Amino acid sequence: MKACVLALLVLFTGSVGAFAQSGGAAPHVATAKKAAGQDHLALFNNICSPPPKPQPQQAAQGGGQPQADPPREKWYAPPVKVFDNLYYVGMTEYSAWAVTTSAGIIVIDPLYEYSVEEEVVNGLTKLGMDPKQIRYVVVSHAHRDHVGGAALLQERFGARVVMSAADWDWLASDPGRWPKAKRDVVATDGYKLTLGDATLTLHLTPGHTPGTISTVIPLRDGANRHTAILWGGTGFNWRSGSPRYIQPNTPATYWYANYEKSARKMRDVAKQVGADVVLSNHPQYDQSTRKLALMPKRTAGQPHPYVIGRESVDRFLTVAEECATAGPLW
Ligand SMILES: [Zn+2]
Repeated sequence: MKACVLALLVLFTGSVGAFAQSGGAAPHVATAKKAAGQDHLALFNNICSPPPKPQPQQAAQGGGQPQADPPREKWYAPPVKVFDNLYYVGMTEYSAWAVTTSAGIIVIDPLYEYSVEEEVVNGLTKLGMDPKQIRYVVVSHAHRDHVGGAALLQERFGARVVMSAADWDWLASDPGRWPKAKRDVVATDGYKLTLGDATLTLHLTPGHTPGTISTVIPLRDGANRHTAILWGGTGFNWRSGSPRYIQPNTPATYWYANYEKSARKMRDVAKQVGADVVLSNHPQYDQSTRKLALMPKRTAGQPHPYVIGRESVDRFLTVAEECATAGPLW
């Protein structure tokens, strides 16, 4: 009897010790870390860290105070051909992608209002394309660094702007004083956007914002065909404590749960479509910072730096899922 109690006591204290050490997040962080390997460490480092202490003064961020635009030398990146039908037209820290089709161009994430002209409009021109051919602008989510440039493309070229209903609302309620695109095409879950010979599939993956879109993009590299998943939103923005996110009916756990569910869903989608390329709208997460520099040096027959294989795509999305699971458990 005595031994039994002792054993129970040891068991009990042992498990309490392990629990206190892990805080509940540890097993998920460990799974995420393993999934990250070397190739997805930037994603892991961004979202698998303990949440900072809430900073009430940050709550006003995103408000109406206009700030001077940063100078070009702080953000300019040259345009790069990545696949036969995909081009990078983004900045040093914010990605914009152009998908070319037989009936015009689809731009994904048109950057800030101050950089869209230089990167997207002039970038396409430098690549030998006509920006007047921009027919659609898909916006992954209604944050200024990705939607700020949409109004210019809408007004100047008559491009149709595509966003989820939730993020059209999010845009409408944003207090920032930058130009906003007019509400246009509303993408629902699984929305097929067809232009000429290309069809993109838009999946609603709420988490980063209420209506974040992650996109499946068919790619061509000579005779080879590939499929990309563009993960539409990465950071855990609600950790700032911003009232845009944190409300009585939408506490942090609500956002973590949505994010986790969305990542799991995209893992399934990635498997179904056989995605072997992962793209982001920030160049550190898909290693564009390193890979874009490799593209002009690539010779025929060399492996494509962006083709990472299905297993690696799944590991990327596993990091997203497990870090979101860990989030409320720290
Ligand atoms: Zn964002």
